Amino acid sequence: MPELPEVEVTRRYMASLLEGRAARAVRVYERRLRWPVPRSLAATLAGQRLQRMDRRAKYLLWRFEHGVLISHLGMSGSWRIYPGPPDGAIPARGRHDHVDLEFDSMLARLTDPRRFGALLWHPASAGEVERHPLLAGLGPEPLEADFDGSRLFQATRGRTASIKQLVLAGDAVVGVGNIYASESLFDAGIDPRVPAGRLSRARCTRLAQAIRAVLTRAIDAGGSTLRDYASADGAQGQYPLQARVYGRDGLECLVCGRPIRRIVQGQRATYWCARCQR
Ligand SMILES: [Zn+2]
Repeated sequence: MPELPEVEVTRRYMASLLEGRAARAVRVYERRLRWPVPRSLAATLAGQRLQRMDRRAKYLLWRFEHGVLISHLGMSGSWRIYPGPPDGAIPARGRHDHVDLEFDSMLARLTDPRRFGALLWHPASAGEVERHPLLAGLGPEPLEADFDGSRLFQATRGRTASIKQLVLAGDAVVGVGNIYASESLFDAGIDPRVPAGRLSRARCTRLAQAIRAVLTRAIDAGGSTLRDYASADGAQGQYPLQARVYGRDGLECLVCGRPIRRIVQGQRATYWCARCQR
């Protein structure tokens, strides 16, 4: 599943190629994604310039002149960029290619085998996109300045859920998926089973720093990969080679040499070292 680092890598890559270009055509081959792609999308987007591409959690926000295209990669989505008309030809369509956004000389194509992705239009007349129902309830961005130990400490007070599950839940911080939750807790030396409300301020600070560091490393490495994901420029991500605990159950901890353990929390696998994490 594409996680925040992959989405951010995709955003940076697409922004570098598409910002400032006008949309020329939209072809929807399959509108049954998680929600139906609006029928009016082609008419709406035609001629509009893409001013900026932002990200909120795992949503890409394509800011056009008259509104924002909200996209999500779901379980298995990816965007590919091709040279488009008039300089390039429209590439042959594969079975799981569902939408083409054609810009001046560039083509962005959405591929999504499982079709849990989304493509929705938020007109400027509907107000700030941040108030869209999909975005309004999201927690702080892990890489923004307003996410830090104090904020995490506040968000964990009174919470009896394990810190692993709280980090995954998305209200204390967004975009920390299962791989990155295990990796961050290992980096911070925190037992994933500890009730969130029991963490001291100092440990919250360590965890917030670890989350930022782990996500930043993954973004720098080009995003992670789980089986079928490829980043927007077609290169496979590198994260599994760098994982320190995730997927390493039974192997030696890279710090202390004890075997890494695997447990299940909230139906999700957690990997951790019982010696390094307390
Ligand atoms: Zn260890």
